[in-house]
Amino acid sequence: MRLVLLGPPGAGKGTQAAILSEKLGIPHISTGDLFRANIGEGTPLGLEAKSYIDAGKLVPTDVTARMVEDRLSQEDAQNGFLLDGFPRTVEQAEILKGLLEGKGEKLDGVVNFQVAEDVVVERMLARGRADDNEETIRTRLQVYRDETAPLIDHYGAEIINIEAEGTVEEINARTLEALGK
Ligand code: ADP
Repeated sequence: MRLVLLGPPGAGKGTQAAILSEKLGIPHISTGDLFRANIGEGTPLGLEAKSYIDAGKLVPTDVTARMVEDRLSQEDAQNGFLLDGFPRTVEQAEILKGLLEGKGEKLDGVVNFQVAEDVVVERMLARGRADDNEETIRTRLQVYRDETAPLIDHYGAEIINIEAEGTVEEINARTLEALGK
């Protein structure tokens, strides 16, 4: 299956993706994780991305899209993937569509994790990642509302809504059921 995971920052996409990846046998491709790995290794890509991530802003689309294209071209992604953190804008969605069309592929669905804003803020503050301070969280939520939430309308009938408040296991069960697995 080729799936995109959508939802506000802190919605638990990464947690759910790790479980789904194992159960569905397809790789979890997280742009946030890829950026953090590059930052950790001090690559040119990591150096470029760091200032944006620390500020809670989006990394420029050309940089992000190249990284995703490279990752999707790898062997393990040929039979499916869970894309987490990309696309984050309508422009990125169009790029993804083009990338897949170039290979004669298309998405099987877009899983949208729905969580109230006060819940995601609480989760992010508890997680305590480097970019999880109050100011950055505010910026990321604003970016989500302005740039990412429009993807829900953009994908329309491809959206699979999951009510994502509850335990990790409950949300996983709801997701598998919604995917018919
Ligand atoms: P969260 O889901 O909590 O927002 P992520 O790990 O997905 O965290 O992303 C962390 C940061 O990485 C984002 O705030 C952003 O700066 C950058 N980033 C991740 N994906 C993208 C993307 N598709 N386009 C631009 N920037 C991105």
